[in-house]
Amino acid sequence: MTRPPLTILLAAPRGFCAGVVRAIDIVERALALYGAPVYVRHEIVHNRFVVDDLRAKGAIFVDELDEIPDGDRPVVFSAHGVPKSVPAAASARHLFQLDATCPLVTKVHMEAQRHHAEGLEIILIGHKGHPEVIGTMGQLPDGAVRLIESVEEAEALEVRDPEKLAYVTQTTLSVDDTKDVIAALQRRFPAIRGPYKEDICYATTNRQEAVKAIAPRIELLLVVGAPNSSNSRRLVEVGEKNGTPRSLLVQRAADLDWSSLQGLSTIGITAGASAPELLVNEIIDAFRNHYDVRVETVTLREENVSFNLPRELREAQSPS
Ligand code: SF4
Repeated sequence: MTRPPLTILLAAPRGFCAGVVRAIDIVERALALYGAPVYVRHEIVHNRFVVDDLRAKGAIFVDELDEIPDGDRPVVFSAHGVPKSVPAAASARHLFQLDATCPLVTKVHMEAQRHHAEGLEIILIGHKGHPEVIGTMGQLPDGAVRLIESVEEAEALEVRDPEKLAYVTQTTLSVDDTKDVIAALQRRFPAIRGPYKEDICYATTNRQEAVKAIAPRIELLLVVGAPNSSNSRRLVEVGEKNGTPRSLLVQRAADLDWSSLQGLSTIGITAGASAPELLVNEIIDAFRNHYDVRVETVTLREENVSFNLPRELREAQSPS
């Protein structure tokens, strides 16, 4: 049987970012050093495949610390960051804590704390309910950080004192949408202070730019990622707004609906920052069963970012 030709434009960079690599390494290194179980509060990163893999190696995922028995077992906090109340509660119980918060999220926490110490009211641009937003708001007392999600909310915002205002952002937002929200804030409150651009991280920015580069050339964009992954969902939106109205989030090859994937000639694939490359390859292989596939990687820029592991893990000796 001859298969029709299909070109797959593979966006680069895609997939794992330095913060996700570090978070997974922290759990794996803790398992190697201290044995199972290692407790992990919340999904270490938003990807079921990653979570299931770590669970198989001995990680136990919990929603809250009270599910962890007293003792010497390590507890890892996820890459998204946690409110200050979480390490405080862990310290009160003398739990062995390992913090996998991405350093770029910690940077936002520190910015918010600095603004608060200077007496500024803080506006956080982010998505309500996302763990990173809960963690950032939880760095400061209740009421110190106001969350807004959209231009409309920026336009309607009432503040204590327009002269004493600062903003920070979630790291995984849409670069373009966030620009509009910041512009609305700056127009209404010219004295507002903020970061140089926004706090969106390099990985989110680069993945969105890479999608923009391929979107006008493709009939369909597949974003490999999880429905609760903010940066993956933003990649779908970036595809839709920049030339590929048909942009879909997909977790595994088994999720593909082949009845709707006939007659294609050029598609694009990218992956969110928490999606392993193995899942990208699985999806390309699935297309090979239906098409004569040619893969063209479109590289927008090279990434060479890496973050150190926490000192306790760097200094600990592996068991002989
Ligand atoms: Fe860190 Fe950005 Fe990765 Fe989030 S997406 S873990 S902020 S590098």
